[in-house]
Amino acid sequence: MATDYDLYIDGGWVRAEERFGTINPYREEEWATIPQANGAQVSQAIAAARKAFPAWSRTSGLERARLLMRLADILEANGERMALLESTDNGKVIRETRGQMRFAARQYRFYAGYADKLWGQTIPLDEPDVFDYTMRVPVGVAVLVTPWNSPMALLSNKLGPALAAGNCVVVKPSEHASATTLEFAKFVEEAGFPAGVFNVVTGDYRTGEALLGSGRVDHVSFTGSPEVGRKIAAAAGAHLVPVTLELGGKSPNIIFADADLKKAIVGALAGIFGATGQTCIAGSRLLVERPVYDDVVEALAGRAQKIRMGDPTDMTTEMGTAANRPQFERILRSIENAKKEGAQLVTGGGAASGEGIDGGLFIQPTIFKDVDNSMGLAQEEIFGPVLSIIPFEGEAEALEIANASRYGLASGVWTQDLSRALRMTRGLEAGVVWVNTYRASAAQAPFGGFKESGFGRERGEAALGEFLAVKNVMMSFSDEERDPFAIRV
Ligand code: NAD
Repeated sequence: MATDYDLYIDGGWVRAEERFGTINPYREEEWATIPQANGAQVSQAIAAARKAFPAWSRTSGLERARLLMRLADILEANGERMALLESTDNGKVIRETRGQMRFAARQYRFYAGYADKLWGQTIPLDEPDVFDYTMRVPVGVAVLVTPWNSPMALLSNKLGPALAAGNCVVVKPSEHASATTLEFAKFVEEAGFPAGVFNVVTGDYRTGEALLGSGRVDHVSFTGSPEVGRKIAAAAGAHLVPVTLELGGKSPNIIFADADLKKAIVGALAGIFGATGQTCIAGSRLLVERPVYDDVVEALAGRAQKIRMGDPTDMTTEMGTAANRPQFERILRSIENAKKEGAQLVTGGGAASGEGIDGGLFIQPTIFKDVDNSMGLAQEEIFGPVLSIIPFEGEAEALEIANASRYGLASGVWTQDLSRALRMTRGLEAGVVWVNTYRASAAQAPFGGFKESGFGRERGEAALGEFLAVKNVMMSFSDEERDPFAIRV
């Protein structure tokens, strides 16, 4: 029987009149129903967060740390079940969702460590009789909007620093994968967070628009597509609400001829076929230096053809489904457009079928070679298992091609020459540079994009800055009488 979820507002479960089914993309079956929050419920969630804020922002850092630690423990204890739920909801392989649950718990612990260390500075001024200090204060009510590809991991990027810093939040997960976020609300409750600190409203773009349309929030943190990111920035801009945007990418993964090719090929595979390519950091443009070009293409094609597709909840499955039907169709359209543009197909090129995968939204691991970087295939984010291989000669050309993109999220460099690695790292226009590795992340390491990949940073110490405002205090202890008509400098 399908599970029926409710909204989580002000520490309680709230029923919505309108509901929609959430689909398991492996079987294309509805397995749960999700509430579509209406405008009044969205307002109720914001009001609950607003009401909870004064008391919550005054709790000690130690108390917030304790609660975050407890939350991490509960999430970890439920990790297996949550991984299964997420794989059921979005088709991501369980070998990855398991790791993502551990990663999310790790992030809550990481930010718990900061909760009681958010102090400011004392600042010596030119005037000796003035005491100046700063405080770092929570911004207030933050709206956190997440996409469908990794709901729990991407929520932890935002929620960890937001709660550690003393903010209240209203979360809106994607309509294609809301179940784990609603399950997670039970953990927040069990951990003992006060009512109203954490709220979840689910629904499609209408819920998102209602959240942003009210103007009564203090920060918006969004992970999703550049198209929606633009709308969010515009809506927030109308109310002068600051935003953090984590958007798409068309990341270059660059293999030099001197690289350890075995490792580089594994890195190239991970970059594009890991998570079925449905990841913002996908290394979807593989730049390969001429002397090793043919060997790399051949090795990758051979391995891609052997990728094991199947039930995402089975530990032996290497590649799962497209996460939902609109995404499945979008990927297939991009593949057809690439063929029309004249890109040379090496392997894959369409929907996948066969024993164990029929009836699911599977796409063949697809590789195009001799791709020109100006083609739509090399410029548009596909968000699927579709690789463009582009040849180059020398560092200068590699950099020129790599940076000729409106995106700047991630990049990879494979070389054994340390000086080259440093030169490339300096030249790449990307928020993340991996050298001799790819698709690696850590709670401690800041993450975010340049150019149209967004702005602001998540993870690491940097993320706290998105949810804190600096307040400066100047206290005079001078006896001097001052001129009221001249500013003191
Ligand atoms: P999406 O932009 O379609 O949706 C993201 C969220 O925004 C969903 O919750 C959706 O309901 C909501 N939304 C849609 N319209 C809205 C509106 N008008 N106002 C407010 N909210 C609205 O993205 P998606 O398809 O769920 O995810 C795929 C995209 O996410 C890709 O482009 C990918 O690159 C990006 N992504 C980025 C990162 C990163 O960290 N940079 C990570 C994962 C995914």
